[in-house]
Amino acid sequence: MLTIVSIIFGALIGSFLNVCIIRLPKEESIITPGSHCPHCKKAIKFYDNVPLISYLLLGGKCRYCKNTISFQYPLVEGITALSSLFLFMRFGPSLSYLVYFAFVTALIVITVIDLYHQIIPDVISIPGVGVGLLASLIFPHIAFLDSLIGVLLGGGSLFLVATLYQWFFKREGMGGGDVKLLAMIGAFLGWKAVILTILLSSLIGSITGIIIMVLKGKDFKYAIPFGPFLSLGAVITLFFGENIIRWYLYVNR
Ligand SMILES: [Zn+2]
Repeated sequence: MLTIVSIIFGALIGSFLNVCIIRLPKEESIITPGSHCPHCKKAIKFYDNVPLISYLLLGGKCRYCKNTISFQYPLVEGITALSSLFLFMRFGPSLSYLVYFAFVTALIVITVIDLYHQIIPDVISIPGVGVGLLASLIFPHIAFLDSLIGVLLGGGSLFLVATLYQWFFKREGMGGGDVKLLAMIGAFLGWKAVILTILLSSLIGSITGIIIMVLKGKDFKYAIPFGPFLSLGAVITLFFGENIIRWYLYVNR
């Protein structure tokens, strides 16, 4: 029963995340006005705003102007619902579930905004560092010192990489947004997770980059943002980090 509630709760939050994804980069209010169709500007009725279900019932089209509704909406709602479910199965009805769910929803918003605009909004990452540090104080899973070192290591290491890159290549390779994002990841997951997140995101990012180069040719101009890979690396670390570290130590005995 509670499992189903966690899915519905996740889908509802996902619906709100879609609003944040569209409005935060435009610096619009995330509260008012209510949801409206981006094409015909008509307000969306509550019965057309049910996460996932309305999209299916409307066949992915606006009820009034019949323009296509972006697939982003059901995708973000679905991913958020699944994140809520998996975290609930892992942590049960607990403070840990709420803290980690808040963390993952922040990563979802950051990922989609970074894919669209190549920016990571400070209004998420900077308060995220504070919330992560605060959570470690009241939280059984991670010590405050672990969280604090995570912030310094996460922010510091990427800051160093970004500075060196700029110094060598005379152009910006990694934005300040990535630095603040990794500091937030460190605040929530601790310093060991920062190292694993950097390794995983670099690995997945390199593989993706090679695949895109093979498929699209070397002239492909779209700069791939790094935020989505950091976010993915952090989520993998959150769920499987301990197993990966144990496996690594076992193999390298
Ligand atoms: Zn419309």
